[in-house]
Amino acid sequence: MKAAYGGIEAGGTKFVCAVGTGPDDIRAEIRLPTESPETTLGKVIDFFRQQQEHHEIAAIGVASFGPVDPDPDSPTFGFITNTPKPGWANTPVAPTLKDAFDIPIGFDTDVNVAALGEHSWGAARQVDTFVYLTIGTGIGGGGMVNGQLIHGLIHPEMGHIAIPHDWDRDPFAGTCPFHGDCWEGLANGPALEARWGQPGELLPPAHEAWSLEAHYLALGVTSIMMILSPQLVVMGGGVMEQEHIFPLIHHEVKSLLNGYIQSPTVLEGLDGYIVPPALGGRSGALGAIALAERAHRAS
Ligand code: ZN
Repeated sequence: MKAAYGGIEAGGTKFVCAVGTGPDDIRAEIRLPTESPETTLGKVIDFFRQQQEHHEIAAIGVASFGPVDPDPDSPTFGFITNTPKPGWANTPVAPTLKDAFDIPIGFDTDVNVAALGEHSWGAARQVDTFVYLTIGTGIGGGGMVNGQLIHGLIHPEMGHIAIPHDWDRDPFAGTCPFHGDCWEGLANGPALEARWGQPGELLPPAHEAWSLEAHYLALGVTSIMMILSPQLVVMGGGVMEQEHIFPLIHHEVKSLLNGYIQSPTVLEGLDGYIVPPALGGRSGALGAIALAERAHRAS
């Protein structure tokens, strides 16, 4: 049997570990609650050690919550850096795996890796400049420009852009510990729940919460469209599982653009332009396998 890759979706509430080569070849998968770094990474290492008895694992890819250091030339490459998540600041995730397995380790942000998954097997196969947004506990954005995952000074932090906040329409102050009413602070899952007194999945589709949520999401997406000119916008995460919000976002974005972007893709309608992830909740774990394959090829 040909060699497999390990993929890790390292999230703030759970870690998903998988072994395989793609969506049609997942040979093993496990979900672990995110506990302390020592406990969680210990269980991750145990899982892949057991899997190595059955499969040759050529490399491991990690899709990590952040902020992270994704720069391979940095002494802290593969670290989760200044996260507010208790116990996880300055955690050497990739170095710990490298020490345990001595195989190539790919490491990037959860959203960049999910973008890679969608580019490899999902909604973004036909494009090379696009964004992947997750709207959940936080708001994160990653993606590709000309076929390269986006890095720079560190990595994009699209969730923390400033958007207009009409305090009369929405007196809620926002949830972001750094900025209050940035995009994430106004439109993440916890903001929905705090503003309306119940979580998004319990708010009925006709609730006024959704028109405000769509308005905020559309403001952020429109800014990203103006800056990056993506050929596609993929929107995943827990809030977007309420799929009735997509048509509201399409409507709001169209109205905000006001005919300015003269691309047939946008002028013909946004149904095929702002879309859910084709891999559903599996973009991260599958993207991590694609990232491992890249790390293996590069080594
Ligand atoms: Zn913020």
